[in-house]
Amino acid sequence: MKKIIELKDICYRYDRRKTDGITDLSFTIFQSECLCLVGPSGSGKTTTAKIIADKLSAQSGEIKIFENTKTAYVPQNSELPSESTVFEYLKSTLTDLEDEKKENLIRANLLLLGISNEMHNPISSISGGQRQRVIIASALIQNPNLIILDEPFGHLDEKLRSDLMDELFTLFKDQAIACLWVTHEIKEALSFSDRIILLNYGVIQQASSPTEIYQKPQNLFTAEFFGRNNTIIGQLKTLSDQEIGVKVLNQEIIIPRPKEFKDKNQQEVLLIIRPEHIHLEDKGKFKGKVKKVHFQGAYSLVEAELSDGFYLILNVDGHHRLNYNDKIQFNIDYTKVYCLDEV
Ligand code: ADP
Ligand code: MG
Repeated sequence: MKKIIELKDICYRYDRRKTDGITDLSFTIFQSECLCLVGPSGSGKTTTAKIIADKLSAQSGEIKIFENTKTAYVPQNSELPSESTVFEYLKSTLTDLEDEKKENLIRANLLLLGISNEMHNPISSISGGQRQRVIIASALIQNPNLIILDEPFGHLDEKLRSDLMDELFTLFKDQAIACLWVTHEIKEALSFSDRIILLNYGVIQQASSPTEIYQKPQNLFTAEFFGRNNTIIGQLKTLSDQEIGVKVLNQEIIIPRPKEFKDKNQQEVLLIIRPEHIHLEDKGKFKGKVKKVHFQGAYSLVEAELSDGFYLILNVDGHHRLNYNDKIQFNIDYTKVYCLDEV
């Protein structure tokens, strides 16, 4: 795949004595990919986006910008001048073009974004969703091959935001535009990205595809960031190239050995068991009592207390009625259990 921008060991500190900002960030952005920067508030997403957009200069490290790379940047909390019309505003963002060309370019992009009817209307009269489209139009008319969007749809409601993203990311793909997109919404990061970079305290925790980051987290922070799970310490019993034998919850289980799992002669491992990999079964190996039920629509997140004092959370079909202290039995799908060599 063609590279657009490559970052190597980028550091930036707002206050050189503190640990804010970003540390030793290295990654590449490829042509046409939808790359998501995700992480808790203050983890350095905006700082990273600004450095790539050349709004901040890295204090150390190297940024390689490949030939023909043209970037358009939409900052967090972008505002539009409500007194202008859509056309006046977009025209004011274009330089070096004849008026006719500007108009054609603006019209074509508004058409692409489905708001050409609003072209001569005041920004104050259009809806929140349409304003976001105008903001995207202001980036598209720069003819970029990389668009950087910093939490672009934060103030739209969930359904509108999700529909808009779906449409825009398809549009970017059609036009072979790469998108570096910042969010703190886990569901959106997982559903719309080709690749996800997770930051914490300005350090990359993992950079992988959505499936890999969710199913094969490289550390506890990543595992916990992408959803509820059970993290349980188990005693390591056997170790082969393919499998790991662990004593956990008073059972000896065999699980797949992750690629990253190092043989450190350790006695304990950390098991990550997602709630969707625990299934209610009439004659399940595990017995417990229901302590909490949180209905989520398609499923309920159920907290169960096992007879020996362990607690587990599991997903139960939303149609299944469960009440406090109901007795349940369940099994764990060991093939999906993930294991970390840190405890
Ligand atoms: P995010 O976008 O992930 O919420 P930021 O990149 O905005 O994070 O911020 C990363 C860290 O740098 C945070 O600790 C934040 O408080 C700090 N920071 C951001 N901007 C400034 C600034 N202008 N001056 C001092 N510290 C800042
Ligand atoms: Mg931010």
